[in-house]
Amino acid sequence: MTLSCNFSRSATANLATDSLAISPIQLSENCLIKSRVSLASMTSFRVGGPAEWYVAPKTLKDLQASFAWARSEGVPVTLLGAGSNLLVSDRGLPGLVICTRHLRYTHFDPETGQVTANAGEPLPRLAWQAAERGWSGLEWAVGIPGTLGGAVVMNAGAHGGCTSEILVNAEVLTPHGTTQILSPHELHYRYRTSLLQGGERLVTQATFQLQPGHDPAVILAETSKHLDHRKSTQPYHLPSCGSVFRNPTAHSAGWLIEQSGLKGFQIGNAQIAHRHANFILNCGGATASDIFRLIYHVQQHVEQQWALWLEPEVKILGEFQPA
Ligand SMILES: Cc1cc2nc3c(=O)[nH]c(=O)nc-3n(C[C@H](O)[C@H](O)[C@H](O)COP(=O)(O)OP(=O)(O)OC[C@H]3O[C@@H](n4cnc5c(N)ncnc54)[C@H](O)[C@@H]3O)c2cc1C
Repeated sequence: MTLSCNFSRSATANLATDSLAISPIQLSENCLIKSRVSLASMTSFRVGGPAEWYVAPKTLKDLQASFAWARSEGVPVTLLGAGSNLLVSDRGLPGLVICTRHLRYTHFDPETGQVTANAGEPLPRLAWQAAERGWSGLEWAVGIPGTLGGAVVMNAGAHGGCTSEILVNAEVLTPHGTTQILSPHELHYRYRTSLLQGGERLVTQATFQLQPGHDPAVILAETSKHLDHRKSTQPYHLPSCGSVFRNPTAHSAGWLIEQSGLKGFQIGNAQIAHRHANFILNCGGATASDIFRLIYHVQQHVEQQWALWLEPEVKILGEFQPA
């Protein structure tokens, strides 16, 4: 099995071993496109090779310029938030990786009870800020270590809440530099998916509807309770991507994996977590290839026992050798 993203001319290059160093390209006073930037430290799995090109714009103008540069160079674009739901190939990614982490801004509007934030805002930070104001609606989000943009794309959710339920609208930027405002209806939300997944449009901003006017102590306590629960039931002490597989309808993926006797099973330094079988942990020095092979191993075992193929929730980017 080979999985690959939308490769173009440089698909066969091994970015991890090729040593061509190219000077950064100055897009504007505050925005540089750098070559061969390691992505391992930018993913929660802590694995993955370099981006051929990497940029982290702070403004809409620089985002537009980044897309324009990729278009003029004819290279593919990969969008990166906090990297908490990504498995990036050890060989790296061709083309331009656009990271949204520096797109930061938050505004709580007491008139409407809506919070508007830029794509790079960390979801847990937003949850705590809402709780401190006594605004209910984001308590579930506190343990999800992604950005607001990633949450809109993934329809991130936990503890019975999810992004699509509170989204008023999302602003997206097309590769041609125009912005669009999309409603939840237009985003075709379902369980952990949206129309934006695998597409080229970048979420720049989103507005959530919350419920102000609660006692902050109550919302803070509820938020803390969710975080404590997660820390006691999920392995937060080692690098992972959270749940690796989507939950099929009848049983949870974790239950199926556990019943297949795979807890603790290891390939290289990647391990099925003892605490939660839908987590794969990087126990130190794991490669993306170890994790990829472990994912395939789980899929095969579960299929043999349950006649059911587990679909990954994690986004697998770049080239992988057949498992
Ligand atoms: C310990 C742990 C616990 C987790 N628990 C949960 C949980 O309870 N519930 C849950 O739903 N998820 C959970 N996750 C997974 C992950 O945090 C979410 O999927 C999160 O929404 C991903 O956001 P991100 O910014 O990290 O996106 P990334 O991982 O960077 O990207 C995910 C996808 O979104 C795209 N993308 C990212 N930003 C943008 C943007 N601005 N515009 C367009 N596309 C974009 C990427 O191209 C990629 O396809 C967990 C992860 C970890 C590590």
